[in-house]
Amino acid sequence: MCGTCGCDSGAGEVEHSHTVTLEQDVLAKNDGLAGRNRDWLAHHGLFAVNLMSSPGAGKTTLLERTITELGGPVAVIEGDQETVLDADRIKATGAAVTQVNTGAGCHLDASMVARALDTLHPAAGTTVFIENVGNLVCPALFDLGEHTRAVVASVTEGADKPLKYPHMFTTADVVLLNKIDLLSYVDFELAAFERDVHVVNPAARVLPLSATRGDGLADWYSWLSASRPRQPVPG
Ligand code: MG
Ligand code: ZN
Repeated sequence: MCGTCGCDSGAGEVEHSHTVTLEQDVLAKNDGLAGRNRDWLAHHGLFAVNLMSSPGAGKTTLLERTITELGGPVAVIEGDQETVLDADRIKATGAAVTQVNTGAGCHLDASMVARALDTLHPAAGTTVFIENVGNLVCPALFDLGEHTRAVVASVTEGADKPLKYPHMFTTADVVLLNKIDLLSYVDFELAAFERDVHVVNPAARVLPLSATRGDGLADWYSWLSASRPRQPVPG
């Protein structure tokens, strides 16, 4: 997967020093651009949320419902390898949206987000949701300049993901456990999942919810409100 994007960094066992240097260069360049995004977002009074998960965890469904229920202006940057399917779903809610297709790439990077922000030019006070490419691995390594990171996990994926993909959960500010309406149909131990999230990231909030049935969404909206920068600078 990461052979095409040069992002399989953080693996201490990588033997070829040339590869390690390339990865460090890629990530260092990305960190610089992410810093510029962060400054740009602050200057324009925007609040940016990086939404990450494996494919099919329910990011787009959660966004559709969040946009209609949260209130206030929302803009969305949609990341997928191909198609504008998710952008079309978001557009139907009335929110501003731009689709980024990464082709062979398996994550969004800061330069893609910079171009998307330039296209969207959201008004001050807008919440910008960045729906990352569905992937529990390399999106965690790429700072986009966001204020906060939300990882969506779902009960149908199994409770073992925090220990199997620790980088993703280590960098999360909040873990949204989706599809809890299906708990009675699957073998998923909620307490074990929460315990393992906190093994890799003691500070992460875990919010069980159902984006389709509505359970727990009020907690998600409260969390968003509390995480928003207090005094956005007018653009
Ligand atoms: Mg999606
Ligand atoms: Zn990648």
